[in-house]
Amino acid sequence: MELDKDLGTEAGRQAWRAILADPAGTLLCSDFDGVLSPIVLDPDAAWAAEETVGALARLGGLVGKVAVVTGRMARKAVQLGRLDERPGLESMSVLGLYGFERWDAATGEFVEPDAPEGVATAAAEIPGILAGLGLGAARVEDKRLSVGVHTRELPDPQSAFDALAAPLTELAARHDLRLEPGKFVFELRAPGVDKGDAVRSLVAEIQPRCIVFAGDDLGDVPAFEAVRELREAGTLEGLLICSGSDEQDALIALSDIVVPGPPGVAGIFNRLATALEG
Ligand SMILES: [Mg+2]
Repeated sequence: MELDKDLGTEAGRQAWRAILADPAGTLLCSDFDGVLSPIVLDPDAAWAAEETVGALARLGGLVGKVAVVTGRMARKAVQLGRLDERPGLESMSVLGLYGFERWDAATGEFVEPDAPEGVATAAAEIPGILAGLGLGAARVEDKRLSVGVHTRELPDPQSAFDALAAPLTELAARHDLRLEPGKFVFELRAPGVDKGDAVRSLVAEIQPRCIVFAGDDLGDVPAFEAVRELREAGTLEGLLICSGSDEQDALIALSDIVVPGPPGVAGIFNRLATALEG
């Protein structure tokens, strides 16, 4: 089954054909938040949508390898996706904290390196910064190797986000951390690893013929760029899916297909699964 002419770029359609020709040589990667799960006020309550994880599991039985590549702790993504109890995902991997952490379904083991010191010392300063700006109600999310500051729940999320940009940039610089903006969230984390590195390490490990990456936010840009570079170098075919939202459009120009949020992701995953089964 061809990908419809009106759907996607030429490179995307070429990748689609390559996936159908060699499903075993295909690596399918997905971000978690905003792709498998809806964005919600409480990040601890971002349970993956049943239809989306169901579609991912369907593909898990059809392609060579499925991986979740997320800024979350691997343990949290496994829990919120119920990824350890899902038939079809027995050989999946979760790369958490942009690749710092890893979980493999085959062994059930978590690899969780020690946190760099700068994260904890920077995190300790955040309440004071928030209080000084009258933003003490902002949610601070300890992600062990990173710390997130969320403004979504505040009365004016955008002006709070804008007000935090400069002081958090300064804080990150002082502790040799990287400041990663997202959808009404800033994340301070250790430099040196991003989703582009995570994609490259999976590609080096698995050596796929084709890769699919589905993402929704600024943290996915390095992954999309890595796939585009690998594709342009002729290393593999790549299909880039953007889970679209009103809050972020940075990925659209880098994508082959834009779908409406997690339900749209479920739709395109199921379409691919049906094509593979046909
Ligand atoms: Mg996301």
